[in-house]
Amino acid sequence: MITAYIAIGSNLSDPVQQTKNAIEALKTLPQSQFLNVSSLYSSTPMGPQDQPDYINAVVEIKTDLSAMELLNSTQAIEQEHGRVRKDERWGPRTLDLDIILYGQQTIDNERLTVPHYGMRQREFVLYPLAEIAPELQLPDGVSLQSVLSTVPRNGLSIWRA
Ligand code: ATP
Ligand code: MG
Ligand code: MG
Repeated sequence: MITAYIAIGSNLSDPVQQTKNAIEALKTLPQSQFLNVSSLYSSTPMGPQDQPDYINAVVEIKTDLSAMELLNSTQAIEQEHGRVRKDERWGPRTLDLDIILYGQQTIDNERLTVPHYGMRQREFVLYPLAEIAPELQLPDGVSLQSVLSTVPRNGLSIWRA
């Protein structure tokens, strides 16, 4: 089985509940084992600033799904949770599920780029990921900790009710 990391983001329609629902949905992925989930985090929006703050988390799974099958499954979960794709990039959304890492594989096709192209710049991916996988190395051999040390928290905080 392959260990994969999926980043969750939501800033509409009760994002905390959306995130919890997404975590439950990820527990039901076929041919997969749910291993771990980070704390929920609150982050300030990337791109357009006239939108609510985000709730983020990262989930660790083990899976026998291929990377493309995993993408199909996570996109189906996004759809079930009411995601409407809009033209505006990085605009508000009920649910975003991004595949951050799929084992140590590097994938680049029309539908999927892994490691996720933005992971090295995004505090709302790196800090939750480091919480559950502090020893992780990226496919190019760079440690997660060394990437993390270059990215400020930028308002990211652990979400508390
Ligand atoms: P960003 O990719 O910058 O985080 P986004 O998550 O809002 O933006 P989406 O609208 O969710 O972007 O996805 C756009 C496309 O990205 C999807 O149709 C999907 O095929 C593609 N994609 C490429 N790599 C990945 C990945 N690692 N995880 C999820 N989707 C990906
Ligand atoms: Mg995204
Ligand atoms: Mg996405």
